[in-house]
Amino acid sequence: MKRIVILGAGFGGLEATVELAKQIGDSPGSEILLISDQNFFMFTPLLPQIVSSYIDPRHIVQAVRDIRGKRNFRFLRDTVENIDVAARQVHVTSGPIAYDYLVVAVGSRTEYFNTPGAREFSLDLKTLEDGVVLRDRILDCCEHADHTTDAEERKRLMTFAVVGGGYTGVELITEMRDFLFRYVVGKYRGIQREEIRLLLLEAAPNVLNGVDPLLRPHALARLHHEGIEVRVSSPVTRVFEGGLELNHEEKIHAGTVIWAAGVRAHPLVEALPGPHDRIARASVNEYLQLEDHPEVFVIGDSASSRLAPDAPRVAPVAITQGTIAARNIVHMERGGLLESYAYVSKGMLVSLGMNDAVVSVGGLRIHGFFAWLFWNAVHLFKLVGFKKQVQVALDWTFGTMFPRDAVIVRKPRSCKLCETPKPELIEAK
Ligand SMILES: Cc1cc2nc3c(=O)[nH]c(=O)nc-3n(C[C@H](O)[C@H](O)[C@H](O)COP(=O)(O)OP(=O)(O)OC[C@H]3O[C@@H](n4cnc5c(N)ncnc54)[C@H](O)[C@@H]3O)c2cc1C
Repeated sequence: MKRIVILGAGFGGLEATVELAKQIGDSPGSEILLISDQNFFMFTPLLPQIVSSYIDPRHIVQAVRDIRGKRNFRFLRDTVENIDVAARQVHVTSGPIAYDYLVVAVGSRTEYFNTPGAREFSLDLKTLEDGVVLRDRILDCCEHADHTTDAEERKRLMTFAVVGGGYTGVELITEMRDFLFRYVVGKYRGIQREEIRLLLLEAAPNVLNGVDPLLRPHALARLHHEGIEVRVSSPVTRVFEGGLELNHEEKIHAGTVIWAAGVRAHPLVEALPGPHDRIARASVNEYLQLEDHPEVFVIGDSASSRLAPDAPRVAPVAITQGTIAARNIVHMERGGLLESYAYVSKGMLVSLGMNDAVVSVGGLRIHGFFAWLFWNAVHLFKLVGFKKQVQVALDWTFGTMFPRDAVIVRKPRSCKLCETPKPELIEAK
């Protein structure tokens, strides 16, 4: 019996598992085991809309066992602690697991570029929990700002800085802007609209570098129109409790700093033998195999493949590589020719908040309302499962008809702002 182990139930790992189940799931000579530390698959492109309360968090995730349906694979919810390629074993919290073939698809982690204080004092947007925590944090800031008598402190609490002007940073800050201005601020009588400051900070000379240069001016104009301050060539050199420092000189006081500036390979990938690229991804050959270990495939955000070392870290790349890794395992078993991976861009879609987006797909270059409709349609179509598609479509419909939910589920004791000494409080507003 040959055991194929897949690590990570994200875009790449899930695709590899489903393809393997399709090709050899019912063969008595093989066993497919998917291991992931969460028992669901998350559709990351909609994560910024969790932060803006547009979508319910549970609607962008799908339980792996629901996706499995009648497919023939096993699922283990556990954390992988170590991969021993020499012994052909992975070590999970509950013990070692031997494999004949391994697919590593554990994604990436945030890169802080050794910026002092960044890890400690900024928030992240990678997991579902990050999205929920960030949404609560925005509301925590509003609750505190509403009651403080100190105008400077109120200004600080209502300053939100997003570090990183890639598509994630832009989609996040435009969602935050919609949430704050359209739904939140009117309900807090102690906060004036002009006290809210949204900053998008980018070290490079441009934001949205991966976006078609013909569409970038529109995106910038929209950010400007929405009152978002875009600072380019402005590296964040320090983050501290209550703010950040730009270019080693300028200090900005901010209630919330969100780090969306860079990614690095997962530590499990960094520890794999063989060459790695500058962000620690495993350098694999054109068949996605690890050097000297043809039985180990590395895909998605974890891999830098020989024919496409500069492929962006996006879901379509992970999905295609998942299919190819699965097929190559089948070819190795059945004696077929291995398939190689070459990057083909599937276009770029960036949401700019309610009613606006930029889209470049094939020869199509559009922006504005129709681009936004296109963005919505594509993301709805790509969601896994009809039930989730209906839930998200309903969330979007209700989100345009009714005010968004501004409830903080956690008690004040879990609010970090409550721990810091505050100036005298005035009566509730
Ligand atoms: C906020 C945000 C927005 C994004 N928006 C877009 C977008 O609009 N379009 C787009 O194409 N891409 C987008 N991306 C990028 C896209 O999500 C990634 O490129 C894609 O998820 C990579 O797939 P992957 O399979 O390599 O890793 P992932 O999808 O990240 O999956 C990794 C899996 O490994 C599991 N795992 C991690 N560590 C362990 C461990 N130690 N043990 C067990 N399991 C583990 C994780 O739980 C997860 O299930 C976005 C990413 C983020 C964070």
